[in-house]
Amino acid sequence: MYKKLFKEDLEQFTSTLKQFGSIYGPVKKTSRGCEFTELTDFKDLQLNYTRTMIPPKKFFLKPKEPLYSLNKDAGFKEIIDDSKTVLLGVHSCDINALNLLDRVYLNQFPDLHYKTRRENTIIIGVSCEPDDYCFCTSTGSSHALKGFDLFLHEISDSYIVRVGSMKGFQIITQNKHIIKNPSLTDIKEFKEYEAERLSKITLNLNVNGIQDILDLSFDHAVWQENADICFGCGSCNLVCPTCRCYDVIDYLKLDLKNGLKVRRWDSCMLKQHALVAGGLNFRPTRVERLYNRFNCKMSCSEDSLNCVGCGRCTVYCPADINFVEVLKQVRED
Ligand code: SF4
Ligand code: SF4
Repeated sequence: MYKKLFKEDLEQFTSTLKQFGSIYGPVKKTSRGCEFTELTDFKDLQLNYTRTMIPPKKFFLKPKEPLYSLNKDAGFKEIIDDSKTVLLGVHSCDINALNLLDRVYLNQFPDLHYKTRRENTIIIGVSCEPDDYCFCTSTGSSHALKGFDLFLHEISDSYIVRVGSMKGFQIITQNKHIIKNPSLTDIKEFKEYEAERLSKITLNLNVNGIQDILDLSFDHAVWQENADICFGCGSCNLVCPTCRCYDVIDYLKLDLKNGLKVRRWDSCMLKQHALVAGGLNFRPTRVERLYNRFNCKMSCSEDSLNCVGCGRCTVYCPADINFVEVLKQVRED
């Protein structure tokens, strides 16, 4: 279903979202761009942004979160955060990344913490402002077909609103005084805007047969060359919207009676990541960790890659390791 919302009505529309939870949206924080931040003043909202450094996965899989409290007498008690949230202004690539996380955290063994947040969060997408680092058209992530409640596609004076769920439909119904039906001219303009947006995504990564190419490239010099300049800092994992590895740590208080079981993001680029009981490290060298990361991102599950082409790992790598260029070099050789 396609509807229309005039830009001048966006503030009013946003204020009605408060009934569904705290509203978070892209807010300009530093010279490096926007971050998803709680919206206290509508004027702070920057819907025409390129990318945030930390993706919206932080709302579903928190960087650090207590899973259980522990008491010597009462045992373990699960800690569930059931706060309600509205995420306004999520890009297609990040929505597709959340759909990938769903497969891990909801399918076979649903994670109650993740599931509760997913169910308690309304996602409103917005069309993006691509730059030279985006290659989402290569990974099939430039358009979101599911995983959102509403999607706002910008045209000149308004947004074409795509409805993606029953919750989204409910929001539209509650705002029917400002939600209009688009005219044929609006739909024509919507198509033109979409074509223009896609034309700005000029970076291309040929992913045909990429798993075989990577399998065969284990001894390629490109891995060592990049491992030699890599700091092993793990930033590429932290900014990646599809990275989902975590570690669980027990914190025991000094009374030895109370404690917390805490989950926190982990990074396969850190040496300790592959350290297991008995002291074995199954990826002891940086070159193995770098190769593993590229392999993981370009591996396929249910017909999609573990990469949505957002460009973050290249943009925020302090060693200037260019994700697409490395893969191009491997293919060419
Ligand atoms: S962000 Fe760059 S330097 Fe840091 S671990 Fe990743 S590839 Fe290495
Ligand atoms: S691997 Fe890089 S480009 Fe791909 S989703 Fe992760 S951060 Fe984005």
